[in-house]
Amino acid sequence: MLDDEPPYVVQLVLWKGVNIVIFKAEIEDYLGLDVVCGRDAFGRKMYKIPCTVCGKPVFKRSFSIKRAYKCDYCKLVEKEKWKSLERELAERLLDELNPQTEAEKRFDKAVQKMFVKRKDIEKYSRAIKAAKTRCELYDSIPEIFVAIELLHQGYRIIPQQKLANYRLDFVIPDIKIVIEVDGKIFHNNRDRETVKDFVIKNNLGQDWKVLHITTDYIMKDMVRVAKYLREVLG
Ligand SMILES: [Zn+2]
Repeated sequence: MLDDEPPYVVQLVLWKGVNIVIFKAEIEDYLGLDVVCGRDAFGRKMYKIPCTVCGKPVFKRSFSIKRAYKCDYCKLVEKEKWKSLERELAERLLDELNPQTEAEKRFDKAVQKMFVKRKDIEKYSRAIKAAKTRCELYDSIPEIFVAIELLHQGYRIIPQQKLANYRLDFVIPDIKIVIEVDGKIFHNNRDRETVKDFVIKNNLGQDWKVLHITTDYIMKDMVRVAKYLREVLG
């Protein structure tokens, strides 16, 4: 049936610089498909097969009902889909082999967010690694940043140190400084901060200093906060 001479010319198409005479094939009626065949300029038999996905014609020298023909575009799309599926699978596998806690995942996300526009992430790799070992102690992205920055600047830090009824965000014992990362609520509630500062000094010593940094300030310009910390602490 396939080798039967097509009954009449349907159209003339230019394909890759070669004129192809397209005939309506008997096969079309037989298979109920929009398949037409013809001969190229050299008299070789050609089939114009609709892409099974988008319907765009695919030109082939042979046709088999058992095969699904796809145009180059749809093939590419499928390939990309497989690639992303493979990537997803690899990530999931990696997750299973090396399960991350919620705190670790949150920490990684924060680091990604922090360094997305910065080129100096390499310089920070040691500090990031060190900060991650205690990632469950940081309450927020700004705290994660401060922890990384302080470690990067070479300070020994104690995060979430309990003192009386309080929790101190970061204690740097070597230079007698407490760093508090304040949200808006605490920022406006100066009285509470004063009491807390008083308690800190009363318990640790009058020569201790309490440094307050607001989360807004940190989120707005982390590079500036890093510079500020360098100036104030150093
Ligand atoms: Zn297609």
